[in-house]
Parts: sequence; structure tokens; C-alpha cells
Amino acid sequence: MSDFLYYCFMTDLPKPAQLIDRFGRTVDYLRISITDRCDFRCVYCMAEDMVFLPREQILSLEEIYILAKTFAELGVKKIRITGGEPLVRKGALELLQNIGRIESLDELVLTTNGSQLETMAAALKEAGVKRINISLDTLDADKFKAITRTGDLHQVIRGIQAAKSAGFKRLKINAVILKDRNHLEVASLVRFAVANGIDISFIEEMPLGVVSRHNRSEAYYASASIKADLARHFTLLQSLEKTGGPSNYFNVAGAETRVGFISPHSENFCSTCNRVRLTVEGRLLLCLGNEHSVDLKQVLRTHPGDSDALKQAIIDAMLIKPEKHEFNIHEQPVILRYMNMTGG
Ligand code: SAM
Ligand code: SF4
Repeated sequence: MSDFLYYCFMTDLPKPAQLIDRFGRTVDYLRISITDRCDFRCVYCMAEDMVFLPREQILSLEEIYILAKTFAELGVKKIRITGGEPLVRKGALELLQNIGRIESLDELVLTTNGSQLETMAAALKEAGVKRINISLDTLDADKFKAITRTGDLHQVIRGIQAAKSAGFKRLKINAVILKDRNHLEVASLVRFAVANGIDISFIEEMPLGVVSRHNRSEAYYASASIKADLARHFTLLQSLEKTGGPSNYFNVAGAETRVGFISPHSENFCSTCNRVRLTVEGRLLLCLGNEHSVDLKQVLRTHPGDSDALKQAIIDAMLIKPEKHEFNIHEQPVILRYMNMTGG
């Protein structure tokens, strides 16, 4: 952080509407998990017998809106709504409509498992959602069931078609790739993306929470292996486009589709991190792979209506944003919260 900004933080000088951490990174992207609940139980995300939060412990939709607006006033330009499965929370659409009306935001985007899109895609477009990421790890219905435990592949495919028909541009598939579970699916997933004119990102599994169906160390499948597998079927050209996110993008020669690789283990992307996450409990997480956090629900509930107190708590939180994550897939997870609690 510059001396001037540090001086502003430590004195009563008017604070610039910008969130900057100790490493000079500007935070202008907030991911909000609006529920920890989900209709799927993906093997890498959740344990089989998940216990979800009681209602009094979670933020109300009104509190989530106040937080979204406050972050926007502090310079946040992009908000992603996620979960758990965000579209299973009652009132999710109204919340999206309200956040979509915050004028200073450039983009309201959504991550979903796609199960509700068939009925909700058109309304989401209307609500001002600009882009949607849809999780899809395989096109084989049995494997899909095995990975999600409760999901129905065909319902998700219909959801993707509904999102296309609703006019969403640059839809993106997110696929978490596990060795011996779905690593042989990568070429067919890219073929599906190309046929549908959508993008796809492959994600290395992160050790968040304790899972039972596989050993994370044995299931690790590096982005480099996926790239080598894809090279046998497609020509991938390094994209020069910078999205500001952790994905390293390639263009599929002769197609519109971009293929991204999110490689938390093999290619650290923390130096350009521009994001923070809000859990449904109101905990502001400063890093996906660390526990540094600030309880914004407590600030909201002990100082109701005091937007200065809330803003100061958020500005102060930037000072504890860690430099980088330290994942080690070969050890028991240090981070005990699951991805559904984190807002992936
Ligand atoms: N339910 C929605 C969905 O599945 O898209 C949104 C929440 S989900 C937690 C967000 C993303 O996190 C999904 O793309 C999912 O595949 C990914 N994810 C979940 N657990 C993960 C893990 N342990 N490592 C890497 N990615 C994970
Ligand atoms: Fe649910 Fe998304 Fe987690 Fe799968 S990855 S269990 S769909 S929250």
C-alpha cells in the first residue's frame, strides 16, 4: 500500500472509495455465498452427512443486500452470487434483482450447479445477471450421479440449453477433474463446450474440508496432464486476453470456445488476487486457502444502520488479507470449512 493510502487508513482523512491490501492489490470483486445448502452432494465439495447452518446463524437477504451495496460503495465492481446452490435459497431471485440495480456495479454474475436453470434462466437474465458459470464434471449420466450423489445430468443439460435460449453470452462450464473418476472426460467436455459455443474451465481439486469418497492426494490430476490429454484432440492457442481471474485461458483453434485452467496447486495465482468472499454466516474471508476472516454479521447486528462502522470494518479487514494460499493436497486439510461454506 502507498504511504498516502496507509496514512488515510490511520487518520481521519477522507478514505478513498477503494479497497487495497498490504500487498498493493486492489480488491474490486466480491463473491457472496447466499446459502450453505445444496440439492447436490458433490464428492469433492461436501461430506455425505452434512450438517447445515440453523436459520438464525445465516444472513437475511436484506443483510446480504446491505453488505453488497456497502462493498459497491467501497469500489467493488463485480459481485458473484454462489453457495452452496444459490438458486435453492428462497428469495434468491429478488436478491439478484436488487443487487442488479446497484448502479456502480459493472457486473453481477452467478455460479450454479444448473439444476434450477431450466425454470429460472429467463428470470435471471431479466434480473440483470450478466454471466453464468455452470458446474459440469462429466457428460456420462452414471458418472454424474456418482460425483454429485443426488444430481441428474439431463436436468443440468436442459438448464444449460435454457440459459442459452435466454440469451446469456459467454456461459462457462466449471469442471473439477479427479484422477480415475472423470479425467477421461476432458475431451468430451471440450467438444460439448465447442458444440454449444460456451467456455470451459478445468479446476484442480482444493483440500477444503474432509471428504470420504476419495483420497485427495491420489485423485490429484494436474492441469498440465489435462492440457496434454486435450492436445491429442485439439489445438489450444494461448489467449492473450486477461480476465483478472485465476484461469489461464487458451483458445480452441477454429472455435469460439476458450479453455481455462484453474491450478491452485501447480500455478499459484495469488499475486494478482482481486477478490474476497462473504460466507452466508457473514464472515468475510480474505483468502480461499486461509482462515483469516472478519465477522461482518456481528458488525451489522451490533451497529444496525451504521454504514460507517461497516465500511471501517471492511477497510480494516484488508490489512489481514494474506499474501497467498498454501494448499497441500498430500496432507489432511488444514482448512476445515467445505467449499459450500466458502463460496467457491
Ligand atoms: N453449487 C454451485 C456450483 O456447484 O456451481 C456453486 C457453489 S460450488 C461450491 C462452486 C464451485 O466450486 C463449483 O464449480 C465446484 O465444482 C467447485 N468446488 C467445490 N468444491 C471444490 C474443491 N474442493 N476444489 C475445487 N473446486 C471445488
Ligand atoms: Fe453443491 Fe456446488 Fe458443492 Fe456440488 S459443488 S455440492 S453443486 S455447492
